[in-house]
Amino acid sequence: MTNKKFIGAHVSASGGVENAPVNAAAIGATAFALFTKNQKQWFAKPLTDENIEKFKANCEKHGYTPDQILPHDSYLINLGHPEEEGLNKSRNAFLDEMQRCEQLGITLLNFHPGSHLKKISEDDCLQRIAESINMALDKTRSVRAVIENTAGQGSNMGYRFEHLARIIELTDDKSRVGVCIDTCHGWAAGYDFASDKGYEEVWSAFDEIVGLQYLMGIHLNDAKKELGSKVDRHASIGEGFMGAETFSRLMKDERLNNIPIILETPDPDKWKEEIEWLKSQQ
Ligand SMILES: [Zn+2]
Ligand SMILES: [Zn+2]
Repeated sequence: MTNKKFIGAHVSASGGVENAPVNAAAIGATAFALFTKNQKQWFAKPLTDENIEKFKANCEKHGYTPDQILPHDSYLINLGHPEEEGLNKSRNAFLDEMQRCEQLGITLLNFHPGSHLKKISEDDCLQRIAESINMALDKTRSVRAVIENTAGQGSNMGYRFEHLARIIELTDDKSRVGVCIDTCHGWAAGYDFASDKGYEEVWSAFDEIVGLQYLMGIHLNDAKKELGSKVDRHASIGEGFMGAETFSRLMKDERLNNIPIILETPDPDKWKEEIEWLKSQQ
């Protein structure tokens, strides 16, 4: 297999989703993430035909295919919400996001699994999340639900590979679920990506518990806090505790070929340079 990495960043879609592929191309990205609506609001205007046509045309113009695009859902959504009102609101908003992806010809949607808010048990929360996914998959056809690992901050689920595996276990259509690994979140949750030994151990644990066949994307972030801190603070590549060598190693890892690898590092002015450096490390 050739060493083929799709590397990009979570770019701005302000002024319309159609601007995201243009912004991605401007920084030399071969993958990108975007919000298909304002991530801080519950409701958004539907996409217009013009948005949709221009988005598709710009993706084609700049050479982006669906396997290079990993949108992120709204941070307000909690698919494991302990209360009915919050849960229903989240489920409706998530379905809307899935449908927006379908309209845009996007086949992946990345999301944080959910939080129990200290009102239900962790497993109850995981069951709710899986049920939420099942409901959304039932009403859509072409989008895969991509669950992101988390740092374990607050009552957020998804900080153990076992949580991701449990959600997948409870979903009806396993061909339409996947996982996105955020390196900073994993590090904060205690997964040591940064040492030689730790790196291999983390991925073999992932393969054993979740399965590499579910890996659909990577969020590439260095970490401002120590291993196991449970605090989610992204750092620019090489400027955090994980260090440049870690990311150089990731770029040489063939298990990460052909999936979107997305920077969510804090300084957008560095993205172009970071992407260039990452490409050079393959
Ligand atoms: Zn992330
Ligand atoms: Zn994060």
